[in-house]
Amino acid sequence: MVFILIREKRVMKKTYFDYASTTPVDARVVSAMLPFFTEKFGNASSAHSFGFAAQKALEDSRETIAKFLGARREEIVFTSGGTEANNLALMGLAHRLKDKGNHIIVSAIEHPSVLETARYLEKQGFQVTYLNVNAQGQIALDQLRSALSDQTILVSVMHASNEIGTVEPIAEIGRITRERKIIFHVDAVQTAGHLPIDVQALNVDLLSLSAHKFYGPKGVGALYVRKGVHLDSCLLGGDQEQGLRASTQNVAGAVGLAKAIDLAAQTMVDEAVRQSALRDFLIAEVLKNIDGARLNGHAQERLPNNAHFVFEKIKGEALLMNLDRVGIAASMGSACKAGLMEPSHVLRAIGVSDDLAAGALRISLGRSTTRTEIDDLLEKLIAAVKRLRA
Ligand SMILES: *Cc1c(COP(=O)(O)O)cnc(C)c1O
Repeated sequence: MVFILIREKRVMKKTYFDYASTTPVDARVVSAMLPFFTEKFGNASSAHSFGFAAQKALEDSRETIAKFLGARREEIVFTSGGTEANNLALMGLAHRLKDKGNHIIVSAIEHPSVLETARYLEKQGFQVTYLNVNAQGQIALDQLRSALSDQTILVSVMHASNEIGTVEPIAEIGRITRERKIIFHVDAVQTAGHLPIDVQALNVDLLSLSAHKFYGPKGVGALYVRKGVHLDSCLLGGDQEQGLRASTQNVAGAVGLAKAIDLAAQTMVDEAVRQSALRDFLIAEVLKNIDGARLNGHAQERLPNNAHFVFEKIKGEALLMNLDRVGIAASMGSACKAGLMEPSHVLRAIGVSDDLAAGALRISLGRSTTRTEIDDLLEKLIAAVKRLRA
């Protein structure tokens, strides 16, 4: 006698709304990378055919990234990601120019990889101004102007906030820093591969990007370093990347980064239009259907894929867990440290009370997000908020 056990298996549909944290790697990116793990495995510094092949792939990738930014091939430095690019930009420039001046300006809403590097430099004797932002999250140009002094060596402002999605007036800042001959760094990790970027038009001197935020692999990024801008290296022990980044290059990663940016360039304008329409629909429906809901960030000047809310009388962690249970993956927008929820520095900077900030929710959309998914999200979100308040 044969017993057949049929296990009832309910497959819950899972939907990802956390594309600002990371994205899946595009299958075409994976295909482009694969040969560089196996048959084309050479070290790009080696003086033989394996090395030359690796070096060619590396330089071709550099060229692709440079083209995307309106830069030159030799101005692109590969790093292990956005964090390292930001560390290298701030530390490398501060240490190199310490005899020229000791003042650095950053916005108060930067990513921790900029903010904590700025705090570290403060401990090393540099003076740091943390520029305030308005209620929409944008820095004021007159405040920037009055913060500049003849000691200022660097201004660092992110292109767009990973948390509330606000896009900063980078071109205007670039005009000011260029006029004063001050180096301008931009953390473009949230915008690269999503919005067009031209380092010439924006007068940017240093710019960070990271592959895993636009359908490339994790652990690889790049820093654009304008010709004539000199940095001290943060890693010692090799002369790779023009001496700016010791360590054997991640050739497969660089190839993946280049392929991802190439693919992004083909669709990003259309995707920005499509995703911002979905975003605006989502925002309108949330504000209409959930009492005590508030949108954070700028209504127009915001990332096409970002919707960030706070809900009165809601704990964000509980909301996230409730949503995850019904197959919705979202975020509060800022990472909590060791389980302790510190109120987000970004929400504080835009004047959201700590109480309200505890009820934060970031929904970030991606290439595969559909209107059906948004409808499903709305239904589940409205129900979850109701449940938690009951
Ligand atoms: C994700 C992110 C970073 C860090 O990039 P990694 O590649 O994950 O190190 C830096 N800045 C911003 C704005 C980001 O969103």
